[in-house]
Amino acid sequence: MRNLYTLLPNEDLMGFVGRIHYLGPFQAFEDTRQRLGLTTRLLKAGEVTYKDEYKLSQLLGYSLESLASKHTSRNLLHYCMTQDELNKFSDPSATNKMPKITFFDSKSVVKLPWRWCPECVEADVAEFGCSYYHRNHQLLGVHTCYKHGCLLYSECKHCDFRIDTIKQAYVPPVDNKCPCCGSTEFLGQDYISDKMHQVESYVLLMAEGKLDLNFERIAASVCEHIGINEQSILARTGGKSVRAFNRGMLNFFGIEDLNQYFSFVIDYKDKLKCRTLCNSRTYDIRYKYTPAHPVVYAMLLVYLDHHHESQLLAA
Ligand SMILES: [Zn+2]
Ligand SMILES: [Zn+2]
Repeated sequence: MRNLYTLLPNEDLMGFVGRIHYLGPFQAFEDTRQRLGLTTRLLKAGEVTYKDEYKLSQLLGYSLESLASKHTSRNLLHYCMTQDELNKFSDPSATNKMPKITFFDSKSVVKLPWRWCPECVEADVAEFGCSYYHRNHQLLGVHTCYKHGCLLYSECKHCDFRIDTIKQAYVPPVDNKCPCCGSTEFLGQDYISDKMHQVESYVLLMAEGKLDLNFERIAASVCEHIGINEQSILARTGGKSVRAFNRGMLNFFGIEDLNQYFSFVIDYKDKLKCRTLCNSRTYDIRYKYTPAHPVVYAMLLVYLDHHHESQLLAA
């Protein structure tokens, strides 16, 4: 029989903590958390918690790198940070001082609760005797199941139950019953456009480490697309082109798509503004500011794909 105290296929590392508590001897989650030596009190979906990831990797006997492609969101950081910045967040010798990762304008990035796929729950219960949270279901920008293609559930249709922190449901609702009201009807993301599906595909590729790109190379593509280079960035002469690029991005996604990712989107006299998406970190790797959220880069890649297509068609 499979050892249930090890990570299951694609199990989210922080979701694993919830499942360990669910299966374990302690009544209070706080006891499980302290026994594991974790510092984060409120475990939220898809959040990068390096310090606790490091602790768990040691307990489980895995390296952080080997957990990254299937169990954590760590790979996403390669697309929004330089290697030097990444090193600051992942130096095990500095584990007690590891800085918390915050993204630029992170308050504007729409937070999603813990999510699950009803078909995965059924299959996991049949195979392992227990449901668990999949890493691929928790990534920001992902709304459908990577295995079954169905909509991920995020809330009860009949009461306001949703799992913002893992204490509200240590494993996804078994038998697909709402733990609060017993209803078997759940809701997921109610709006997904074609472009959002394309963003989703990129986020998954990024998380799995299958996208042969990094922050520097994406920024270089953006520069090329805008028509600026290091000199013009330093001399600040490309402002007009940058503004045109930002306008293009905003109009390409449109208010409805933008609202799914960011809460601070301004639509004033038909002009869109969103500083979370349109900031200098998208093209200037030396820009001394906090990294933009990885979903911003997935959106950039979708935009660049479409642009190259239209260029080819026009040629
Ligand atoms: Zn599924
Ligand atoms: Zn309910």
